[in-house]
Amino acid sequence: MNYSTPTLLVIALLAILVVGRIIRSPVAPGRIAFALAAVASVWWIAMVVLRLNSAELSDKILFNRLAWFGIIATPLFWSAGFLDHAGFSRVTRPLPIALMLVLSALAGFAALTDGYHHWIYTGIINTERPSFAYGWLFYALLGGMYLCMLMACLLSISQLKRASRLHRRQMIALLVATCVPWACNAAFVLFEFRLFNDDPTPFAFSATVMAVLFAHHRGKLFIAPPIARDIIFQILPDPIVVLEPSGLVLEVNPAAEKLTGFSAETVGTKLPSSNPLMQFLAANAQRESRKPLVHFTAMGKIFEVSIQPLEPWGRQGSVMIVLRDVTAREAAQKELSDAGQALKLRLEENLRLQQKLEQQAFHDHLTGLFNRRHASTVIPPVLSGASGQEPVSLIIVDLDYFKQVNDRYGHDVGDKVLASFATILSDSLNDSEMAFRHGGEEFLIVLPDTSRDQALARCAQWRHEYATRTIAELEDALSFSAGIAVAPEAGTSLAACSKAADIALYRSKISGRNNDTVWGEHLDGMAREGSVGKGPAGGHDMPVVPADRKAALP
Ligand code: GH3
Ligand code: MG
Ligand code: MG
Repeated sequence: MNYSTPTLLVIALLAILVVGRIIRSPVAPGRIAFALAAVASVWWIAMVVLRLNSAELSDKILFNRLAWFGIIATPLFWSAGFLDHAGFSRVTRPLPIALMLVLSALAGFAALTDGYHHWIYTGIINTERPSFAYGWLFYALLGGMYLCMLMACLLSISQLKRASRLHRRQMIALLVATCVPWACNAAFVLFEFRLFNDDPTPFAFSATVMAVLFAHHRGKLFIAPPIARDIIFQILPDPIVVLEPSGLVLEVNPAAEKLTGFSAETVGTKLPSSNPLMQFLAANAQRESRKPLVHFTAMGKIFEVSIQPLEPWGRQGSVMIVLRDVTAREAAQKELSDAGQALKLRLEENLRLQQKLEQQAFHDHLTGLFNRRHASTVIPPVLSGASGQEPVSLIIVDLDYFKQVNDRYGHDVGDKVLASFATILSDSLNDSEMAFRHGGEEFLIVLPDTSRDQALARCAQWRHEYATRTIAELEDALSFSAGIAVAPEAGTSLAACSKAADIALYRSKISGRNNDTVWGEHLDGMAREGSVGKGPAGGHDMPVVPADRKAALP
């Protein structure tokens, strides 16, 4: 029975399938070479099948010769694919592939013309199979192919140490896969091992190549780092320069070619020592740290530089320099820091303004004392805490005949007097005591934990200081009258205490001024009679300012 036609159909279909799959497969190292090996092995099998189905010896010999196109191409392309996978991608560039095709074609041509020269087969030993006596070219080609595969295996083994775990496993799998057809061929040549009564090599090759291509097609197994690394080197936007210690440029990626002073032709030339990169390297030669160094400013840009020694890759003293252009980042950072600084200044200014506003809101600008508005906020809690053991004295002071000071010496002098009295108050107050400008020339003082007697003593002290104070423009002595309310006796609210102090003050005024009255101690036609406290050291019987002063002043 002749199986030629269906077998050839199946084989042609297989070849179409392989080519179709390769086109749709993800990019993987050795893809094209493995595919060519697959097609070549399929061709080889096809010729074997045709030979097996041929009755005529001449046909058998013809198919045997035609098989040589695949016999050489299969191991050649397999080796190339294997090497590409191991990182030697140059072997699968168009020129080497074309050379391999030419070599395979020449081997096929030599086989077809063997009848004339007998370089491959010197004679037929068995006409049935058929088996031949081999000529020198047979051994040369076979040896060449063995050498080719041996080289591929050895080079691949040399790469094993550097390969990643995943890639290493794949390389070992490929090594094992290579051994299968190889072992089959050796068994056939040396021990006459046969499959279908013939050479098992093409079947073994076909099976392994298909397995590899299937793995490619699945996209998982053989997408290994070597190709990705090459692509990364090409597409990385960061310039990369590989330099020998002498400055000889070994490699630059396309990004580095755009740097000032660099181009594709820079590879193989020496950088002058004046080159900023060389100067930078010289300056940082002693650095131990491999951390990126920032602020390498050159070529109008700011770079972050990583220097990677290449000793582990067998290049003593050589370095790979990765430059990251951080000009934009640095500019943005500076802008941000400037903006932050400006914002900080604005905030500080705002804080100052706020403090000033607060100061203005609670203080009287002329005397620097608290103002009346603030009194209504801070005094009530103090008064409400007053008790028999801890009385709080609230004093209202009114400067005597102040209008006349103004009239006689002018408003400015009047202001000075007001400020001067305020200073007397604030100098004498402790941290818990507070003084407020209550009105024009009226002051309100709150003295926590202060009894009636202590309040009178404080008034006497202020009176003395006020009377003896020297104001250049002023000739007359000064005095004030005070009304004292002691909480809780006079009440514990601000309204009650200030009203009581006001009444007491009025009593001081009508009783001749320059004295102090404690609310509740003299009724004198008012709510109750207030007592009149005299000035310092028991008080003045004679007021500092005479009672008739009002009339005496112009
Ligand atoms: P008495 O002894 O009865 O208190 O008489 P007096 O003149 O002190 O009281 P009067 O209420 O008649 O006058 C108070 C004056 O204080 C009237 C006003 O011009 C003056 N005065 C009020 N505020 C200020 C100020 O801020 N600066 C100056 N220089 N004078 C002021
Ligand atoms: Mg007054
Ligand atoms: Mg007054």
